[in-house]
Amino acid sequence: MNTQLLAPTDAELALDDLRARLSGDIVAPGDESWDSARQAWNLAVDQRPAAVALPESARDVVEVVDFARRNDLRVAPQGTGHNAAALGGELGDTILLKTHRMRAVTIIPEARIARAEAGVLWIEVVEAAAAHGLAALAGSSPDVGVVGYTLGGGLSWLARKHGIGANQVTAVELVTADGRFVRADRNNEPDLFWAVRGGGGAFGVVTAIEFNLFPITEVYAGILWFPVERSAEVLKVWRAWTDGLPEEMTSVGRILQFPPIPEIPKPVRGQSFVVVEAIYAGDEAEGASLLEPLRALGPAMDTVATMPVAGLSRLHMDPEEPVPVAGDGGMLTDVDDELIEALVAEAVGSPLLTVELRHLGGAVARARPEHGAAAAFEAPFILYAAGFTPFPEAVAAVHASVHALRSALAPWEAAHTYMNFADTRRDAKSLFTEQAYHRLRRVKAAYDPADLIRSNHPIAPAG
Ligand SMILES: Cc1cc2nc3c(=O)[nH]c(=O)nc-3n(C[C@H](O)[C@H](O)[C@H](O)COP(=O)(O)OP(=O)(O)OC[C@H]3O[C@@H](n4cnc5c(N)ncnc54)[C@H](O)[C@@H]3O)c2cc1C
Repeated sequence: MNTQLLAPTDAELALDDLRARLSGDIVAPGDESWDSARQAWNLAVDQRPAAVALPESARDVVEVVDFARRNDLRVAPQGTGHNAAALGGELGDTILLKTHRMRAVTIIPEARIARAEAGVLWIEVVEAAAAHGLAALAGSSPDVGVVGYTLGGGLSWLARKHGIGANQVTAVELVTADGRFVRADRNNEPDLFWAVRGGGGAFGVVTAIEFNLFPITEVYAGILWFPVERSAEVLKVWRAWTDGLPEEMTSVGRILQFPPIPEIPKPVRGQSFVVVEAIYAGDEAEGASLLEPLRALGPAMDTVATMPVAGLSRLHMDPEEPVPVAGDGGMLTDVDDELIEALVAEAVGSPLLTVELRHLGGAVARARPEHGAAAAFEAPFILYAAGFTPFPEAVAAVHASVHALRSALAPWEAAHTYMNFADTRRDAKSLFTEQAYHRLRRVKAAYDPADLIRSNHPIAPAG
């Protein structure tokens, strides 16, 4: 709290009172730890909330939500801040509720279920599950938050076989805008349970989440590396190869342009490549046979081998520490040779560190009646592009390149996109089917009519 010579204001006294009721903490502007407290994983986002809450329990979360409601403030839950760019920095009327102190992970091996508190990172679940011979539907990054990722959908390396992570959720515990602690599952609060499985973080502050694990210990996975000059050729062969693959095979066609900075390991620092990342959740011999057409291209480096499933968290080489970054993505109706030519023309030589195409389909595309708000993704491919933005000129250059790339690929842009790969604010209608969008608005109106809970991809209450 401020050590000021002036008398404390009413707001400061109110925050002191709230702090006294928490086992966690409240950080206010002017406090010593203010700048570190308000920082997101994405260092490019300058978050300026009214205060930062650091709860340590669901009870703390109830206190913060009640306080916000009584004081005409809003609450923005944040796990890591990987998607802070979409939330935006202007949060003057909002308490930023950061969950990183809530980190308990429990694995129930006999039920093949994991329970993660709100601040748990994926690597923590992946390693705990692996100790029991189990795998989670984790994404490419070890330090993305389990809750934010799952509420938005959750696209893992096993998604073509097992669908998106949200549809493997068995229960969610959350504090609603009226300060109630509820457990939503198939039998309790079914509308809320439906909405949080792919509808994002607009419906309450999640305090814990439970989801299915799978008995997978090893995968055949790795990267085929080629010189960047072969981008169009390699991506076209990769695209043709994806037709008719079994659902156990997931792959990414990707252009990687590593900047010459010390954070990048020496062997690839300052170099550019086109790569195919391949993950086969099955037998090595079958995986190797499937990969033959890509290996026939003669990769300069080939790291595909049988590996522990936990190793998938680092296959994509995502940064494990906070970084300044800008990027964006979107679903594609198809990837054809013309798109590949357009993508290569925009990407190669640009300031973009990564331009990737992930292959979807399989279980990702199959909606089932028991699924949540993101029942299925129809689009067969998804694009994501990003670059580091350590100084102002880089911010403008990366934004311009992402914009140019998205414009060049606009003819292939699908009607709906994926919330987790949208780093810019989108019209909520573009994130869901029409039916899901209207149902989400009704659920929002039922649980948060005054729009107290502020999410990165907001859903306006119906009416
Ligand atoms: C390097 C990198 C790799 C990625 N890889 C993948 C991938 O492989 N697959 C994939 O699907 N996505 C991936 N993503 C996207 C990622 O899933 C989203 O950015 C997601 O929103 C991150 O969740 P978070 O909690 O870490 O981030 P945050 O920015 O903290 O959260 C994002 C939003 O989630 C909601 N939220 C978070 N916690 C809570 C809570 N306790 N209660 C209610 N709402 C909450 C809030 O609305 C918040 O604004 C990646 C992103 C990056 C930057």
